[in-house]
Amino acid sequence: MNSVIDVEDRYCAHNYHPLPVVLTRGEGVYVWDDSGNKYLDMMSAYSAVSHGHAHPRLVNVVKHQAAKLNIVSRAYYSDQLGPFLKRVCEVTGQDMALPMNTGAEAVETAIKAARKWAYDVKGVEDNKAEIIACTGNFHGRTIAIVAMSDEPQYQRGFGPYPAGFKLAKYGDVDDLEAQITANTAAFLVEPIQGEGGIVMPPAGYLKACKAVCEKHNVLFIADEIQTGLGRTGKLLACEHENVVPDGLILGKALGGGILPVSMFLAKREIMELFTPGDHGSTFGGNPLAAAVGLEAINILVDEDLASRSASFGNYLVEQLRAIDNPIIGEVRGIGLFVGIEINPAIASAREIVESLMVKGILSKETHETVVRLAPPLIITREQIDWAITQIKDVLISHHKTRLAS
Ligand SMILES: *Cc1c(COP(=O)(O)O)cnc(C)c1O
Repeated sequence: MNSVIDVEDRYCAHNYHPLPVVLTRGEGVYVWDDSGNKYLDMMSAYSAVSHGHAHPRLVNVVKHQAAKLNIVSRAYYSDQLGPFLKRVCEVTGQDMALPMNTGAEAVETAIKAARKWAYDVKGVEDNKAEIIACTGNFHGRTIAIVAMSDEPQYQRGFGPYPAGFKLAKYGDVDDLEAQITANTAAFLVEPIQGEGGIVMPPAGYLKACKAVCEKHNVLFIADEIQTGLGRTGKLLACEHENVVPDGLILGKALGGGILPVSMFLAKREIMELFTPGDHGSTFGGNPLAAAVGLEAINILVDEDLASRSASFGNYLVEQLRAIDNPIIGEVRGIGLFVGIEINPAIASAREIVESLMVKGILSKETHETVVRLAPPLIITREQIDWAITQIKDVLISHHKTRLAS
């Protein structure tokens, strides 16, 4: 037994089921364990490490800013926050931003903004505002957010839940329109469902939903915490359908794989509804986070990580689809955001993920049947080729084992 694992298991709540590997160092697309074994990180901390581990430009910014000024709270202005938010607004086509730390906080911020807009602008009667989310969604783990979930495990044991949330069938614009009432404030959607298993809606879905929202005076809010910042081959996944959302939620890669940095962005007329004292966060928008976030955006643009994601993602999907083995049900993905559906009659996704680890690849199962591959966007073609060879070996050997048993 590894004593480090024992200590973590003893003192850390068991709200995750980690793979039995103890990581001690990371650089670029690689991480190393406590025995010096090297792994290709094809999970990137659920897409938070799109820039790769310890990107030299980000490490430099951390060193410089950490020695200068870190936390001041929003009781004061800082020289770092304005330039960061200006840059994110420019690249996303939004007008204003409200900085937070984790993704869930930014989603909560979006919910508050939508409700306030419903009461102050749309004229919905007090406490009647509704938010429509999608079946199969994942927006985080707070009480209000799990109230929107239809995954029994996310909810069981945590009620009672706040009211005012409804579900529309993901991928079905007619169902969205059917759910809308005079009290609907917003439609909250992931352009691709990441935790749901890399689930892609039909082409044209986002654009059609945006049109329905406009028709009924409902805000269209995109949760791009996982799909944003180059992951799907565009800076934002909404760009695949030329949709500019009324509200946009970013997180994960916004912190450059170094810090938790998130934000809610919106059109000016929505964001201006927040007045001093309405909402806040002690750490949100702190100078260190702002400096890291600005550099993270600059690197995305300078290194053209979205284009890399598009071309290498296509290549990865093609290579995976070319593997001719009944263990693969389906390969889904766009950009470096890929899910392999594993035939449950042959193996569980967890078994595949554990075998990949032994081969030097870190990935993660999502639900029982999907292996998720979302490497840092700096990955090279040679590294993908190496990964394909390992993945092929693992899938074929599981299939053989199954045939022999
Ligand atoms: C990860 C994720 C969140 C929650 O972010 P946290 O930083 O874990 O709170 C919300 N929405 C989506 C789409 C996510 O992938």
